[in-house]
Amino acid sequence: MSASENQICPLYAGGKWITPTGKSGSSVFNPSRGTVIASVPMCGPVEVDMVVASAKAAFPAWRDTPPNERAQVLFRVKILLEDTFEELCLGIATEHGKTLSEARGDLRRGIEVVEYACGIPTLLMGESLENIARGIDCHTDRHPLGVVAGICPFNFPALVPMWMWPIAIACGNTFVLKPSEKVPLTMQRVVALLEKAGLPPGVMNIVHGGRECVDAILEHPDVKAISFVGSTPVAREIHRKGTLNGKRVQAAGGAKNFIILMPDADVDRTVEAVKDGAFGCAGERCMAGSTAVAVGDAGDKLLPALADLVKAMKVGPTDVRSSQPDMGAVISAEHKTRVSGLIDAGERGGAKILADGRATKVDDAPEGFFLGPTLIDHVEETNPLMETEVFGPVLAVMRAKTLDAAIAAANRQAFGNGAAIFTNSGKAAREFRRNVSAGMVGINVGVPAPLAYFPFSGWNDSFFGDLHIQGKEGVEFYTQRKTTTTRWFGFGDGEIWAK
Ligand code: NAD
Repeated sequence: MSASENQICPLYAGGKWITPTGKSGSSVFNPSRGTVIASVPMCGPVEVDMVVASAKAAFPAWRDTPPNERAQVLFRVKILLEDTFEELCLGIATEHGKTLSEARGDLRRGIEVVEYACGIPTLLMGESLENIARGIDCHTDRHPLGVVAGICPFNFPALVPMWMWPIAIACGNTFVLKPSEKVPLTMQRVVALLEKAGLPPGVMNIVHGGRECVDAILEHPDVKAISFVGSTPVAREIHRKGTLNGKRVQAAGGAKNFIILMPDADVDRTVEAVKDGAFGCAGERCMAGSTAVAVGDAGDKLLPALADLVKAMKVGPTDVRSSQPDMGAVISAEHKTRVSGLIDAGERGGAKILADGRATKVDDAPEGFFLGPTLIDHVEETNPLMETEVFGPVLAVMRAKTLDAAIAAANRQAFGNGAAIFTNSGKAAREFRRNVSAGMVGINVGVPAPLAYFPFSGWNDSFFGDLHIQGKEGVEFYTQRKTTTTRWFGFGDGEIWAK
């Protein structure tokens, strides 16, 4: 199924693409142009029942498919993803607004999860202990849960859904995907590749919608587990409702990632990394380094060079392969207004703007949702910019006298996804790594996002649940253990063991 202009995004159930009738639609934009490119049907319990029934019907045969055969489907998907890589990336750039190079990163990281899931026969291996008592052996193996669902945010149209379904289906579950209503087209194209790779009908399913659709998934008795990625208020609620309904839930939320700049940091390489961390994907990353704390005179050493880099960034449309900017648009006109408003509030709170993106105009795409990169210094901890996840191209810098004070500021905020330090001091790095209250830490790495074989291990208000997404925790999340204790009567009697 290819995505045509202004299409209504279909549902996918039982191996068929189905366009529901009589549903209100939510517009999908090309943020570079401000134009509508598709519409998403806002579904509810009826459509959720249909996709869950499809997944439930497919489960017994898929569960009985040997893990190595399931892996073969994923190997074929990986090849198809590589064959269509550039086309898919242009699609990501078009529906999201991120640059082509960022879109390549989005899909590449997703493909790495498929590669990881190709190793499922090894990943599913259990444990055994022979002779736990005379003549008795014990072993543990992993079983799929059944129908599991994934609910996704807009900011990584490829990667976030691919954190979920490759591992879930490799483990033998069947899957219901609810993509973000803002970026549904990428997964539509990818699921068409799954079909081409020979995934049996019903193993993968798509339903579209917003809160009503998600509530129906949370309440459906046949859905055994839910993976959610999105903002913190929704993540907290999904975890609460899902667990109340007896489901296993992993819910990753928002973030405010602190970047500590030490006076001994390497200037050129640090400012480059800090710029990429803050403004990559227009700051719409849960691992964006959106808040820097300059310790001692680090601010005076680093910020002039950083401001020069930021002011030189070219902002523009990302949907044309031949001319790519340094940074694309934000996801919507509303989001642009919200982020601009937070910059206004930050300025009113006394912060000093070193680079101002609010008035950015892009001549060849005047209707696009553009906001230039914004660098703000001397932001107080009580400034509104510090109290919320901005999720836009804004880097707020605070000053601190000591590393301890910087770590304390980082630890006072509610989130705990990522944190990074730039320094040449092993002692400072160790102190930071041990004491910062965040689950993913970078030492001279601005965006310490783990690859597929490690867990995406957010802490505090950035994660609700026990088992994180991807890596071995992902396999653990999508399986349940069965421990079998075996005795064969007659065996071991007599001559084998002395009485
Ligand atoms: P969002 O919370 O608005 O939406 C996420 C999903 O939840 C969407 O599919 C949406 O349809 C659904 N949804 C929205 N409101 C709902 C409600 N009231 N009830 C039930 N479902 C609802 O998030 P977004 O704006 O799409 O994505 C950005 C957010 O995602 C940011 O906060 C970002 O930090 C976070 N994020 C976190 C991670 C992580 O790993 N921690 C990764 C990527 C994005």
